[in-house]
Amino acid sequence: MIQTKTVAFSKNSTNIFFHILTKCNLKCRHCYINPGQHGKNTLPLSVITAWLEAFAQDSHSKNLIFLGGEPTLHPDLPAAVECARNLGFGSITIDTNGYLFHDILSKVKPNEVDYFSFSLDGAIRDTNDRIRGAGSFDTCIAGIRKANSMGFATSLIFTASSANIHEVDKLPPLLKDLGIDRFFIQIIGLRGRSAKESQTRIRRQKLQIAKSQWLKTIPRVAGRIAEFGITVTYPKVFLGPAENFECAGLVADNYFVFPNGRVYRCPLCEDFALHSLIFKNNRLVPAEKLNERDLFQLNIAEGCVMNKLIQPDNLSYDSAGKPQYKIACCLLKEEIRNE
Ligand code: SF4
Ligand code: SF4
Repeated sequence: MIQTKTVAFSKNSTNIFFHILTKCNLKCRHCYINPGQHGKNTLPLSVITAWLEAFAQDSHSKNLIFLGGEPTLHPDLPAAVECARNLGFGSITIDTNGYLFHDILSKVKPNEVDYFSFSLDGAIRDTNDRIRGAGSFDTCIAGIRKANSMGFATSLIFTASSANIHEVDKLPPLLKDLGIDRFFIQIIGLRGRSAKESQTRIRRQKLQIAKSQWLKTIPRVAGRIAEFGITVTYPKVFLGPAENFECAGLVADNYFVFPNGRVYRCPLCEDFALHSLIFKNNRLVPAEKLNERDLFQLNIAEGCVMNKLIQPDNLSYDSAGKPQYKIACCLLKEEIRNE
């Protein structure tokens, strides 16, 4: 039976999204990496180890996601995985665009990496390659098949926007054929390159998706995919009248770590110098005020403060100027599985 649940925020587990470099071989249209804010460093293994040790000290169960840029461009990624395993991280995921540099699949083992998580932004080649670059669809598909054939668990991330929402009904058969274990749908956020694009294209082609289109499309397609035994996760985005708003920055334990040492608790803050923590001499210390923590406290009728500041086009008001709904924390997820 298909079950849908909202995944409650937890203080008992820690999620560490560790960008070990910002270099990438692709130039995706919606890339959220912003070298002006995140640096251009490739962290040496000694620093990766020191920062992992800093997080390992807390006693919660810890989920680690290696990110970039493209993390497989880092020649020491296998050693970083081994270090994280030895430090007791509970689950380890490598996010990749599918190019799988440095023959990574033969340098780590399925019992060391819980998931290889691939990114595809179209159900067909033309759409994906228009967003992510020529050749990226075929390379990603080949990478997923190779990872599966070598015994790795795989997931797929799809960033929904006005550029690809029209073809999400083509996704279920593709995902079934690929044999992936988990499917994550993200909604386009106006960060990094997509924030620039939304300004420079003068909103001729808005990337954001309207509430009605999101609600009419995403839960239905997610349910169809879950019927194949694939766990599907997608952001809640719009809160119903009876649903409570919570800011993950206050009630969850997420860390978004960048190679210039900045550590954010909120991904929507990453385009700004609003990080609440920073690595100094390999020690994680509070950053100067004002920072994202000061924003998390604000209680506004629209829900998420950062959403209102950076991407208010998804809000709607009645004739009296009252918001018609709240926007959920971008980290609040719905999960659908076949149980
Ligand atoms: S979205 Fe990922 S794969 Fe695409 S350019 Fe950015 S870091 Fe590279
Ligand atoms: S997305 Fe909004 S609600 Fe979520 S952590 Fe950031 S500021 Fe808080």
